[in-house]
Amino acid sequence: MTELDASSSQTPKKTTFGLPRPKAAYYPHPGSPLYADKELYTGISKAPKTHVKTYRCEPRSGIAVKIPARSVFRITTPEGPQVCDLNIWNAHNPRERFWAARTRQMHSAHVSTFDRLWSNLPYLRPLVTITDDTLSARHDEWGGRVHDTLGTRCDPYVDKLLSGEDNDLHCHSNLTRAVLPYGLTEFDVHDVLNVFQVTGLNEYDQYFMETCPATKSDYFELFAEQDLLVAISACPGGDLSQWGWGESEGDESKMIDCCRPLEIEVYSLDDEESALKGWEAPKVVDYKGNHGLKGPQ
Ligand SMILES: [Zn+2]
Repeated sequence: MTELDASSSQTPKKTTFGLPRPKAAYYPHPGSPLYADKELYTGISKAPKTHVKTYRCEPRSGIAVKIPARSVFRITTPEGPQVCDLNIWNAHNPRERFWAARTRQMHSAHVSTFDRLWSNLPYLRPLVTITDDTLSARHDEWGGRVHDTLGTRCDPYVDKLLSGEDNDLHCHSNLTRAVLPYGLTEFDVHDVLNVFQVTGLNEYDQYFMETCPATKSDYFELFAEQDLLVAISACPGGDLSQWGWGESEGDESKMIDCCRPLEIEVYSLDDEESALKGWEAPKVVDYKGNHGLKGPQ
């Protein structure tokens, strides 16, 4: 099977209409919390901290952990390249959760240091701010970039749709099992941030993935803006070097060989007062309308 077998309605051919160059669509009014204060978050990343706990996520599995507000946590690839599917909820209200689409519009389709991961409506506030990223922004010859909001988790339904097979090894299933002890279900699992995953859109506007470039020393560091429930899945596609849909094509053994664990390291700031000078707990957007609806007179 070649890449050309994937059909697209889109054309690689560009048409010149003589249009002005479009601007980025989302930009903030002065005082908007859209962009993080770089000085503040650099300070948080560099501030003295105490290591609280490390949680291990075994290859091809998922974990969910509560992380208190004002903590710093790192997602790591301790044994080498491995893609991580990340979901985040407000620990006290799971209806507030990560909104990949709006985050993509407000920052970029791939995220890195100082970008924030925003929650859904009717909240729209940062769940976390990215404070460090050892892979940093990357842009390769195919247009691939790292830490992806374009795609979502792999799941058994799309696998069945594509391959005709029933397979249980998927991020959606890993995340579902991980959150069950917290009273959440499959319906709470949402579009992910694909940490350590290189993706892009090809000339036909089709989503592609490249092999994960992370090494044993890489990490993705986040500041918890709220009390969080964080779930991660060590994607059963591993580093994506052997990616394919359907496990009976003889690929499974190769796929297992490229699967590695992930870890979440949690740190507390030694001196919150000094490190968080100028920081405020994020508030929900104070939109005062009611979608134009009026109550009974
Ligand atoms: Zn996956």
